[in-house]
Amino acid sequence: MAAIENIKRVLGPKGFLDQSEDTARYVTDWRGRHTGKTPLVALPKSAAEVSEIVKICAGNNIPMVPQGGNTGLVQGGVPDASGDQLVINLSRMNRILEINPGDGAATVEAGVVLARLQAAAKQQGLLFPLSLAAEGSCQIGGNIATNAGGIHVMRYGPMRDLVLGLEVVLPSGEIWDGLKTLLKDNTGYDLKQLFIGAEGTLGIITRATLKLFPAPRTAETAIIGSDSVEDLLAILARLRKRFGDKVSAYEIFPRSALEMVLRHIPGTKHPFQEPPAWYAVTDLWDVTPNPSLGGDLEQELAGCLDQGLAGDAVAARSLGQAKDFWKLRETIAEAQKLDGDGIKHDISVPLGAIPEFIRRADLALEKIIPGFKQIAFGHAGDGNIHYDPCPPAGMDQKTFLGFRPEVNRAVHDIVADLGGSISAEHGIGATRLSELAHYQSKTGLALRSAIKKAFDPKGLMNPGKLIP
Ligand SMILES: Cc1cc2nc3c(=O)[nH]c(=O)nc-3n(C[C@H](O)[C@H](O)[C@H](O)COP(=O)(O)OP(=O)(O)OC[C@H]3O[C@@H](n4cnc5c(N)ncnc54)[C@H](O)[C@@H]3O)c2cc1C
Repeated sequence: MAAIENIKRVLGPKGFLDQSEDTARYVTDWRGRHTGKTPLVALPKSAAEVSEIVKICAGNNIPMVPQGGNTGLVQGGVPDASGDQLVINLSRMNRILEINPGDGAATVEAGVVLARLQAAAKQQGLLFPLSLAAEGSCQIGGNIATNAGGIHVMRYGPMRDLVLGLEVVLPSGEIWDGLKTLLKDNTGYDLKQLFIGAEGTLGIITRATLKLFPAPRTAETAIIGSDSVEDLLAILARLRKRFGDKVSAYEIFPRSALEMVLRHIPGTKHPFQEPPAWYAVTDLWDVTPNPSLGGDLEQELAGCLDQGLAGDAVAARSLGQAKDFWKLRETIAEAQKLDGDGIKHDISVPLGAIPEFIRRADLALEKIIPGFKQIAFGHAGDGNIHYDPCPPAGMDQKTFLGFRPEVNRAVHDIVADLGGSISAEHGIGATRLSELAHYQSKTGLALRSAIKKAFDPKGLMNPGKLIP
């Protein structure tokens, strides 16, 4: 096809992949559940190149799929099976352009891997607070396009709160320069916010300016065991009352998740003698040196033990031990993949409704799949639970996954009833399209379609994702 040859010419010999053995990892999603096809994986190295190839695509009606690290969990960054969709992967646009402590801002290209930005900020005594288990591979552009959350949302907010400005190549190929470092800008519609969480449906993010914070100079970590989620939330309330926003992460997981991690992830071990039903891992951060923080945390945890809220609790004595505690939480997704995936949900409900959500979802699912294995874990500090039931003993994966539509509906009905969201942080992608269509109001869907049409009248930018 002449247009594809033109795109190759723009990109040069190192700027694309077109052999199936090379493109394979770009067309399959992280969970390995969907494999699509593409005529070409474009690897542009500048916004100007992105603009040129998008113009060629627009002129020849070639659909495009923007892609970062391809760690997304809703099949948003992979092409469909048609073989028509061009993948535009941003990996080669990976320069950290500026870390500016005065402005408290970093300017980066969209293909910078999240962990690299965290490390670069740290070197200057600063913090880029977005943190998630895929941080060694996911890219800033992908984080912005999915409005990524992770473990520090309760203190620093999701990606939406961390972006100061963007540069975006629009579906026409035109470049929108909104690359500002302003904290205040009251000139009407906040256009950058439309691209955040848009999952690549409105344009391709090429550069971003991001907020930086003072790095914590004191960090304490603890793991807590308890009989119930209610008690873990009561402990969180106590920690917040005493330590305020020093509580920067609070993650929960059940014994079933821990057992799965211990089975699959080398170097993990049980933190307690007696395994409780539920666990929480928490971080306290202080931006000033605070030698008493560790003692204060231990004292508060002792109070939780006395009150019967916790059955066991250990404050980390070293960085290594803190990392060990976090590994138990951060490797759950990896262990799930090795164990044979469950039926995934990424929901949020008001904080206080988490126990009721889990109780009602467990009851509803027991009626659909008696004896199912419950894995409910996640960012309890911001009401976000990954509720991922797994097959009961003796049921094969295929039979189990056949229950997915029924299970999704049961779980999401409870979420809707509790005033929650069917996608807290992973997005809609292709996976949750029908659920979005079911739970969004007609007015909400019409507004989304109008925005999409205004930016992308031909519907070429990541079609089949986010917009039902
Ligand atoms: C083990 C594991 C743990 C995870 N934990 C979390 C978590 O705690 N919190 C969380 O929020 N997510 C989590 N995720 C999901 C995922 O890592 C995030 O959604 C991440 O932000 C995706 O970034 P990416 O670069 O891999 O994007 P991709 O997967 O490549 O793409 C994701 C979406 O963004 C679009 N996109 C990518 N780059 C651009 C760009 N430059 N311009 C426009 N659109 C673009 C794609 O089209 C697609 O729709 C986890 C994933 C894994 C595998």
